[in-house]
Amino acid sequence: MSNRKTIAFLYAHPDDETFGCSYLIRQIADEGGQAVLLTATRGDAGKTGHLGEMTREQLAARRDKELDKAAEILGISVVEQLGLPDGKLSEVDPTLLREKIADFLQRHQAEVVITFPEDGLSGHPDHIAIHYAVNEVVLGGHAPTVQKLYYNQLGSYTSEHSSVLRVDGGDRWEAKRQALAAHESQVWSVERVFGVLGPKVPPGFEIESFELVWERGERYPQVNETSIYDGLL
Ligand SMILES: [Zn+2]
Repeated sequence: MSNRKTIAFLYAHPDDETFGCSYLIRQIADEGGQAVLLTATRGDAGKTGHLGEMTREQLAARRDKELDKAAEILGISVVEQLGLPDGKLSEVDPTLLREKIADFLQRHQAEVVITFPEDGLSGHPDHIAIHYAVNEVVLGGHAPTVQKLYYNQLGSYTSEHSSVLRVDGGDRWEAKRQALAAHESQVWSVERVFGVLGPKVPPGFEIESFELVWERGERYPQVNETSIYDGLL
């Protein structure tokens, strides 16, 4: 099995990748694959946690550094950010967003794409906007290198109508914990989801789940996958 494949993580904000995909990203890196990340915004409309008041530009610069640190911990090969308006992604010209996504996938020759499900997991409008943009690019045939599309789900997830790839964190909680902690300005969101971070995996977060929603033109293929690379040509 060749693991020298490119898996693209397409999200709205710096930290979205860490919340739902740390185990998978670290596993890809450990096995010699390429995890590439595109965030639509720099997260500059977010909260600042314990860091106190900041201007949007200060928060953007801070979050760039936090993301760099998390990316290093997780082994992300490429990080690109579009710098689109945080909190207002749904107001961005959808054609522009789709073109930027298609360009990213083409330049990196991505074979697998991972993004949010249609509820954005948290219901955040930016999450929902990126979900629909990615869907239109991939399902609309504007990303010819892409063979599979997944939606990440939080924790252990099962579905009646689709196949779900489960990635056991194993000993990778420490990497996920450090990457979550690297997003220091987002500590309140981190603690709301995972509790105060410690050496033990929070209950329910032993596994990351990825719903396979599309594979080379087929919606919801019923397959039993044990690896993100299963089924790739
Ligand atoms: Zn987010």
